Amino acid sequence: MSFDYAPAPESRTIVDLRSSYGLFIDGEFVDGTGPTFKSVSPANEEVLAEVSEASAADVDRAVRAARRAYSRVWAQMPGAERAKYLFRIARIVQERSRELAVLESLDNGKPIRESRDVDVPLVAAHFFYYAGWADKLAYALPDHREPRPLGVAGQVIPWNFPLLMLAWKIAPALACGNTVVLKPAETTPLTALLFAEICQQAELPAGVVNIVTGAGETGRALVSHPDVDKVAFTGSTEVGKQIAREVAGTSKSVTLELGGKAANIVFEDAPLDQAVEGIVNGIFFNQGHVCCAGSRLLVQESVYGEVLARLKRRMAMLRVGDPLDKNTDIGAINSAEQLDKIRRLSEVGEAEGAARWSPPCDLPERGYWFAPTIFTGVTQAHRIAREEIFGPVLSILTFRTPAEAVEKANNTPYGLSAGVWTDKGSRILWMANRLRAGVVWANTFNRFDPTSPFGGYKESGYGREGGRHGLAAYLSSGQAVRSARATRRPRRSGAADA
Ligand code: NAP
Ligand code: MG
Repeated sequence: MSFDYAPAPESRTIVDLRSSYGLFIDGEFVDGTGPTFKSVSPANEEVLAEVSEASAADVDRAVRAARRAYSRVWAQMPGAERAKYLFRIARIVQERSRELAVLESLDNGKPIRESRDVDVPLVAAHFFYYAGWADKLAYALPDHREPRPLGVAGQVIPWNFPLLMLAWKIAPALACGNTVVLKPAETTPLTALLFAEICQQAELPAGVVNIVTGAGETGRALVSHPDVDKVAFTGSTEVGKQIAREVAGTSKSVTLELGGKAANIVFEDAPLDQAVEGIVNGIFFNQGHVCCAGSRLLVQESVYGEVLARLKRRMAMLRVGDPLDKNTDIGAINSAEQLDKIRRLSEVGEAEGAARWSPPCDLPERGYWFAPTIFTGVTQAHRIAREEIFGPVLSILTFRTPAEAVEKANNTPYGLSAGVWTDKGSRILWMANRLRAGVVWANTFNRFDPTSPFGGYKESGYGREGGRHGLAAYLSSGQAVRSARATRRPRRSGAADA
């Protein structure tokens, strides 16, 4: 017997989309001087709205507004007062959470179940968390006894978690007394613009938050603006490197949150069903558009057959389709460009000799879709084991000993996250001490909390977001780098038994 589900209360009618949007500068929506571009729904290619592409002159206008708000209002305001605004924003985000979740799913293509239960609640949690710190900054970090803001922050974010990345950037910046100019990604500008309305509703002083929509050029203009004191970037390693070169030799502080190719490591003593859930969550959550996705599965050889069989059985139950259907597990790929990249790399996987498998699934005709996919017979030399695919594609490798698992897991230019599945607490600690990754999850994956610092090693970037460490990135200069170093775990030498 099969059941029909009732429609979700998260219907598209609760979003009041305008046909076109300007830029949010100095507390108001204004027309940009540049051309416009369209934001589409990746699930059906419907044009959602026309958005301004901010020119260098528009970016300059936004930076000036942020500078005025910084020196006249925000940096002067006692922390407890700033906190009131942040609490207010957090509460409005909660009140308007359905609207935000639906718009995020429309513009990004992610399942409503995720935008409703993960993204938007975390956005509110970040504002609540940093609101709590705004009047306690002097007690937050041992090397910031007299905390001072940096000034104007230029922030550039990607399309995979549009609103959540905005919250990670704006909440700590504002709590510390900085003002911001933020550029959302070209394909997902709409929730940032709705957030601008929330700033108006919260009566946030004009110029404290400015949103400049646009593409790479707008981002470049923002990053290179001479009156920006702090650059915060989340995106690809390639653009991150360009930005590092751009700001080298200037007095700007920088934090970079870049790509990843995380190992999700399953030992033979792991609870296998739970591990399979973690593997699925690790790579298919948000269509695999996750910087810390567990895109390389390392399975101990003795349980390889068992894990693979259970994983395939589980994957056959994943529902791919309409992001606004509350039963959808995997939504649309964010853009035609990203779909093309995923297809290309998957073809390379086959050409290099790995075996490809997807469960049978009907993909919608319109829009950008890719079936959940695994590759077996993958070696470390394969491109699909080395490069970030940023899609629902898992590369499966095996290992025999814990030392081999560590060696393979660390054999990557990235170092953002890792997962360990085992019954033994001692092995979790042994592994965590050796994995070169900013986050190590044990018997879980893709868990986020505003109190927990997040960031990378090596080409995954530098600086931390989240937790008290996230404050350091927005307090007076020079300190951000120092405290990012301090977050690194001391490395033990010598081999202990796992
Ligand atoms: P991207 O191409 O690097 O773009 C990121 C942002 O930078 C976008 O807003 C983009 O604008 C803008 N941009 C492009 N060129 C620029 C330039 N020269 N100067 C300044 N800004 C520029 O990355 P993406 O493809 O959107 O996002 C996927 C990447 O983000 C993945 O590698 C993923 O791992 C990473 N990511 C990392 C984290 C983390 O916390 N470490 C979190 C999420 C995602 P347009 O998009 O409008 O062109
Ligand atoms: Mg879009």
